[in-house]
Amino acid sequence: MECVIRNGTVVTASDSTPADVGIEGGKITHIGQGLGPAAREIDASGQYLFPGGVDVHTHVDIELMGHRSVDDFYSGTVAAACGGVTTIVDYALPEAGQSIQGSVDAWEEKARDKSIIDYGIHPVILEPTQQIIDEMADAIAEGHTSFKLFMIGMARFDELAADYLKVMAQAGKHGALTNIHAEDQCLIGYLCEQMTTEGKLGPKHFPDSRPRESEGLAVQRAISMAKYAEAPIYLVHLSCEEALAPIRQARAHGQIIYGETRPLYLHLSRERFEEPDAERYVGWPPLREASQMQVMWDGLRNDNLQTVATDHCGWNLAQKKAGKTVDELLPGMSNLETLIPMLYSEGVSQGKLSLNRFVEVSATNPAKLFGLYPQKGTLAVGSDADIVIFDPRKAVTIRHRNMHSRADYELYEGFEITGWPTHTLSRGEVIVENGTVLGNAGRGKLLKRKRFTPL
Ligand code: MN
Repeated sequence: MECVIRNGTVVTASDSTPADVGIEGGKITHIGQGLGPAAREIDASGQYLFPGGVDVHTHVDIELMGHRSVDDFYSGTVAAACGGVTTIVDYALPEAGQSIQGSVDAWEEKARDKSIIDYGIHPVILEPTQQIIDEMADAIAEGHTSFKLFMIGMARFDELAADYLKVMAQAGKHGALTNIHAEDQCLIGYLCEQMTTEGKLGPKHFPDSRPRESEGLAVQRAISMAKYAEAPIYLVHLSCEEALAPIRQARAHGQIIYGETRPLYLHLSRERFEEPDAERYVGWPPLREASQMQVMWDGLRNDNLQTVATDHCGWNLAQKKAGKTVDELLPGMSNLETLIPMLYSEGVSQGKLSLNRFVEVSATNPAKLFGLYPQKGTLAVGSDADIVIFDPRKAVTIRHRNMHSRADYELYEGFEITGWPTHTLSRGEVIVENGTVLGNAGRGKLLKRKRFTPL
């Protein structure tokens, strides 16, 4: 065998088993006791073996509101790998008038020579014309089996809702999942205008410009649209009970709906907006009241939510601080490197998630929902050897200076956590070992994904 990882505990969404793992040709070929010798031996005594994290919501290299994000597919995927994420699915934002294939090609061009981990692409639809709807079947056949809709101003959703409904229906018909950013533009637009008029500027006022009701209202609307489109939907970055309650109800009635949350809403709350330089915390939707953090953990535990994904988008503080009015504040932040360790430390160590549920929401469910399972998202014979060897006792103080994103600040600066990867393997290659990056730029491959099947 090329490589054996010995004496660790192999953790999947269903089991935790002491076992050795054998690797050949980039795949897991053996899981069992006392495997024979290999060219490379790694001792994982006292450590867990997790399937590499699958982060299905990233914006590694984008332009937004006149700013270019600071990461590219090298720094972004190095950050991912250092934190134990071995697959990302990034959103391809189209330019005006661009075809779906054109936007996917442009994205692959950015990633191809840079990514150190495998990556998929979700096409974003900002112009739901008949021509774009006609292109969807080809994109799905090419392995891009999910699309993103924004219910907010940048997508002119309120104006074009009837056309977006057709997009959902087309996705459902051809076996793709529709990802939806659910916030109600009517409420947000009204509140932002009012707050600007009243001189309520800056991050302190930001959470009131996009209230929980705006998220709940949009989620309810998306659910009803999806019902009549006969299409499965996946609601991204949910933050509050107003979003979770209608999903719970619709799922109980048999509708095929999934919910994602984001580390932000598990680890931070809106009091942060009282701090200096609070622009660093701005995301869409905003941080909520502290009570909502428990709501999100409960949602993950009881399957009201199925995944955690970062919405990673690295900015420098000067970019975050450039906007003045609440609607000019630049959303997003670097988050890929801390996704897995923070979820483990705050979730598993604190008793909020079981070890197996942690693997399920960070790797298995996202891989299944986005057509990557069992190649990605589990540890099984025949799966890609995307493996995180994780030391659950390693004490880490999170510091910007140790992070690999090019963002010039760290969201969780000074947080003390327990647990960090010692090795990250991608298709059997050790790409990070004890903090040293070994994987080369461009080794990551574009993933062609299977059609959607329900969990
Ligand atoms: Mn996003």
